[in-house]
Amino acid sequence: MNRRELLTAGLAATAAAANPVKIDCQSHLFSAEFLALLEKRQTAPYVYRKGPDRFVVVGQWHRKLMPSHTDVQAKLAVMNKANITMTALSINDPGPELFGKDSPAMARLLNDFIADTVRQHPTRFFGLATLPFDSAKSMLDEFDRAINRLGMKGILLYSNLNGRFSDEDEFRPLFAEAERRGIPLFLHPAYPLTYEATKGREMTGGLGLMFDTTIALGRIIMAGILEQHPKLKLVCPHVGGALPYLIGRVDHQAMVLKRGAENIKRPPSEYLQNVWFDTVSPRAQAIRYGYEFVGPDRLIFSSDHPWVEPELIAGEIAKLKLPPADEAKIYAGNARKLFNL
Ligand SMILES: [Zn+2]
Repeated sequence: MNRRELLTAGLAATAAAANPVKIDCQSHLFSAEFLALLEKRQTAPYVYRKGPDRFVVVGQWHRKLMPSHTDVQAKLAVMNKANITMTALSINDPGPELFGKDSPAMARLLNDFIADTVRQHPTRFFGLATLPFDSAKSMLDEFDRAINRLGMKGILLYSNLNGRFSDEDEFRPLFAEAERRGIPLFLHPAYPLTYEATKGREMTGGLGLMFDTTIALGRIIMAGILEQHPKLKLVCPHVGGALPYLIGRVDHQAMVLKRGAENIKRPPSEYLQNVWFDTVSPRAQAIRYGYEFVGPDRLIFSSDHPWVEPELIAGEIAKLKLPPADEAKIYAGNARKLFNL
């Protein structure tokens, strides 16, 4: 290698270190067909137009959609820029569980959409499925179809299912099935039960969604689901919501004051340490706490694109100056293992 080659190789290595290879585990694409269906509806969930903009309404929450929310090429361009080689693609919300008797058909439509997109870009995307919850049978039927027929790699489980939390008895077969098959459940926020409390100052996205996942995850732990299913691969995005920050108090309430501890054998924090966290919290300190809490093997890079730019999250991770081996796990290695890529 001559001097010029050495210099070029050195520059390439520096560039790779500055922009490491990534797998993005939380990234959403809205289905144009699904949005067109929602535009024909009068009651939530529905879609309406106002001037050039489209709004999706879930419950009473109106969110403006951007053209990029249905644009695969725009997503690929963002991935290329951020050196994201693969992305776990999912719909955002509303999910199929909000459509009553039509929920199995909606789940099939949405999962077919994700699977079709993956099929068109098989080296760039893998899919996370959503499920109907009108009955245990239709939930498990679609689980099977999504994994075995469509090749999906995980299930997007909403923080609440049309107002009910997933630790209730009728949803329990999902956890058993996910553990048996080794398929990760990704606990994603949905229209929150705290909507009324958070709408006034437009804090539904900032706090409402985060507390919904916090409560959902706390309930899953306290219901003993992680005690009963120790091999369950459960992912809580947004660095665990607020739960890691509050877990000392949750431990004290359960173990010292003996409140609600009848289904668990260990402190709640020990179960929480067996959950995977994603990195969608644009503040380095929060990501560092998540990293220290679950360790370098259970933190996975995610962006929540198109709501959040991947480079924003990567910039916060870079501030941590983690050991390169840990950074490589967080950016890609952990996701490869978790989703069996
Ligand atoms: Zn998201």
